Amino acid sequence: MFAQHIIGLSGLVAAALFILGLKRMSSPVSALSGIIVAGIGMVLAIGISFLDIADLSEASRVHSMSNIVLAISALIIGGGGAWWSSRKVAMTAMPQMVALYNGMGGGAAAAVAAVELARHQAASLIILIVTFAGALIGSISLTGSVIAWAKLEGKLKKPWRFSSQRITNAIVFIATIFIAIAAISLRDSTTSSLLTILFFMGALTFGLMMTLPIGGADMPVVISLYNAFTGLAVGLEGYALQNPALMIAGMVVGSAGTLLTLLMAKAMNRSLANVLFSNFGDIAISSDSGVHGQIRTAEASDAAINMRYSSSVIIIPGYGLAVAQAQQKLYEFVKLLQSAGVDVKFAIHPVAGRMPGHMNVLLAEAGVPYDIIFDMDEINDLFPSTDVALVIGANDVVNPAARTDKTSPIYGMPILNADKAHQVYVIKRGQGKGYSGVENLLFYEKNCSMVYGDANAVLTQMVQAIKDLGN
Ligand code: NDP
Repeated sequence: MFAQHIIGLSGLVAAALFILGLKRMSSPVSALSGIIVAGIGMVLAIGISFLDIADLSEASRVHSMSNIVLAISALIIGGGGAWWSSRKVAMTAMPQMVALYNGMGGGAAAAVAAVELARHQAASLIILIVTFAGALIGSISLTGSVIAWAKLEGKLKKPWRFSSQRITNAIVFIATIFIAIAAISLRDSTTSSLLTILFFMGALTFGLMMTLPIGGADMPVVISLYNAFTGLAVGLEGYALQNPALMIAGMVVGSAGTLLTLLMAKAMNRSLANVLFSNFGDIAISSDSGVHGQIRTAEASDAAINMRYSSSVIIIPGYGLAVAQAQQKLYEFVKLLQSAGVDVKFAIHPVAGRMPGHMNVLLAEAGVPYDIIFDMDEINDLFPSTDVALVIGANDVVNPAARTDKTSPIYGMPILNADKAHQVYVIKRGQGKGYSGVENLLFYEKNCSMVYGDANAVLTQMVQAIKDLGN
């Protein structure tokens, strides 16, 4: 009895730590401590599950000992694997890693549901419904996330589509729900067990089929959606197990994932339905509508010297900066400009890179202070009074077509007003298009010059050019 009180109390403390950790993650200044706080909550939540044994009878304790050995082995293998892989993952591969871990969360919730369904077929109707709901969502999240990982990793290059795919998917989904209803109605019978197996097969298949047609470019939003699914599945299983810590943690993840998904869709000016069903991003768009003028180029050293003698520079980082791993060189360049008296700021678009916060993490890694990093809404009005906008490996997030070209797939997406600065330099390797596949009208503007090359190589030349000037 005493152990149960401790378990209940510790569960509540763990849940409070999750919420506090999440709150601290909302600012880059406190994010690291937020991760540590949430991590302590997780260690506590895992630790107290072992306390359950203290409350068991002698007979079941013997049985549980073998489970504890299995659980500890799983913790060592899983924890060790995660520690090793997260230390060596490249910044550009972060979305894939999130997808994989998220899928495992969904799979774990589905596995818990499977065990509960096998153990307690005589459970109350409401518990059965909740367990099946968690199993459905967790299974979809598992297979869907694995496909998302494979697409981002380049293992699945082409979306898999066929005519009447949506109808087929709807049939699979509805059939799975009906199987669940039948299994619940026939509980306690052998048929129910068979139906439960069929139900899991249906749910896992639906996760695959729902994700396969979506283009690789939309995977970060899909991952965020599955993240919300996983949270919901864990919360539902927490209810089935009557475990408050699991319930609260699941709901926190579920709502955070939902908000993030909506935020990403909003920042791209697209609805969630459009992301899931529109085939955006994987179709090469050849139309160059709205393109006028010609592209100008500049030498890295000339651009660097111009910035050195200007009074204000706004830097816009994008996915290419992460690809080039040029964040350290960039900060070296920024420090040289600052010591020459130039006012340098960073402008971060909410979907710059391949997942929210991608650029903030990259810049934090290089040691860029937070007080010179600004969100789109905070900085957009400053561009007209800025001497130079330096765009590094960013494309869609500065494309004025989003403002003017109604036929463009990115029309309506809020962009950074780089084109309004007096002079714009764009560092990129060549004529490569951005994530959306559309031509960027900014590159043809009179005040824009392209500095071609890998971002790291160009920034190295820029740093050298400033150093060569002497003081
Ligand atoms: P983009 O993908 O639009 O453009 C990146 C650019 O970087 C490319 O044009 C490429 O041109 C250049 N590049 C690639 N490698 C290098 C390199 N080594 N050195 C220099 N340049 C390089 O990225 P943005 O960050 O501007 O935009 C992000 C896009 O991703 C948006 O469309 C957004 O909607 C989408 N997205 C973002 C999500 C998020 O949550 N962050 C989620 C889902 C989608 P080149 O090949 O010529 O070098």
